[in-house]
Amino acid sequence: MSERRSELLPHRIAVLSVHTSPLAQPGTGDAGGMNVYVLNTAIELARRGTEVEIFTRATSSELPPVAEAAPGVLVRHVVAGPFEGLDKHELPTQLCPFTAEVLRQEARHLPGHYDLVHSHYWLSGQVGWLSRDRWRVPLVHTAHTLAAVKNAALAEGDTPEPETRVIGEKQVIAEADRLVANTGDEARQLVDLYGADAHRIDVVPPGADLTRYRPGDKRAARAAMGLRADEQIVAFVGRIQPLKAPDVLVRAAAELLRREPSRRLRVLIVGGPSGTGLARPDALIELAADLGIADRVTFLPPQPADRLVQVYRAADVVAVPSYNESFGLVAIEAQASGTPVLAADVGGLGTAVRHGESGLLVPGHRTPEWADALAALLDDPARLARMGATAVEHAERFSWAHTAEGLLDSYAAAMAEFRAQRGPIALLAGDTGQARSQALWRRRT
Ligand code: UDP
Repeated sequence: MSERRSELLPHRIAVLSVHTSPLAQPGTGDAGGMNVYVLNTAIELARRGTEVEIFTRATSSELPPVAEAAPGVLVRHVVAGPFEGLDKHELPTQLCPFTAEVLRQEARHLPGHYDLVHSHYWLSGQVGWLSRDRWRVPLVHTAHTLAAVKNAALAEGDTPEPETRVIGEKQVIAEADRLVANTGDEARQLVDLYGADAHRIDVVPPGADLTRYRPGDKRAARAAMGLRADEQIVAFVGRIQPLKAPDVLVRAAAELLRREPSRRLRVLIVGGPSGTGLARPDALIELAADLGIADRVTFLPPQPADRLVQVYRAADVVAVPSYNESFGLVAIEAQASGTPVLAADVGGLGTAVRHGESGLLVPGHRTPEWADALAALLDDPARLARMGATAVEHAERFSWAHTAEGLLDSYAAAMAEFRAQRGPIALLAGDTGQARSQALWRRRT
């Protein structure tokens, strides 16, 4: 670590994750990669001397006001709106109570409790910018997903994100002192679609828990999960929603079985419903039945990480057919566990998977192409084994420790710029951010 950065290491930061808690089981509802990201980076930041306090909306009256997630990592449950029954799309109505409660909680502690605010997803960014102004500390923001990008590649039947979200994202992007992007592609999208200043973007790839996701014995993993040793197994892991496109895998499997009915193929779908469309209970089961392969598809509810590693090891291939992924943690976790990935060539998956070496990237979502790619992998065990070994090496580049180091560099830059720009003079709410925001609006209209 450079001497310059250690001077600017924040002692304690506030992390905002309004719509989903890092303590929730990922793989269903609104809980996914962002939860895993927030928790794991917090643990690594705390190990490096930066305490982390994560604010998230309380979704049950049973939750304690504060919970310790790990040494140096607190989760503060903020009461804002009803505990249950509030859809993610209704959350903008609760941002004011959420922000008020965050500010009140801070006011109850020592003044100057936090050195920096890091907001995740645009809803948190809206809270972050006001907190930043009040606390006079820099705001770092990670978008995780962008509505304009999602809307440009919608799955059939998926609902577009409303224009109000794009407006909200633009405001946050204009206000943040620094932006963290998962990949160079995302950085370009921030600039091209949202007018972000390229000099204020840091590209910091996410990671995987490489101590947990390691290669292991496939037979043992299958036995532990009650899966047969003599089948070809393709796994899908993630939230069941149109964007994630598990139906693409089910259709490709049906096509392979149509071509070759005696093929011993099993599709393993791990995860729970999220949102609308495919999320309707039984929609995927019905699809498999309509395609005549109901007996070849096994569904498992969301699994904790120590079970998930067995899923990855048990599979011959892990499929990630998403219409869009800002990164795709599942792809890295599967590769770290020694399993090649068959992924759609979209978004961050081009970074997460090394095409032809640690897996294959398929352009588009057409059934024949997916069936061909699946067969090309499954029917060449020597190639699968080579790819599995390369996948492990490739995944080693993506550790949470590495991500935390990147975040600390971004925080140091944000703190240095903040001091240089504002000096000891109090920040007046709505100075540079508002000016940037207005410049953006002028350019838009
Ligand atoms: N996950 C999990 N259990 C499950 C399914 C998924 O813990 O049954 C986790 C998975 O390990 C990964 C995350 O959920 O870390 C999904 O992240 P990804 O980036 O692949 O997708 P996102 O949910 O962010 O769209």
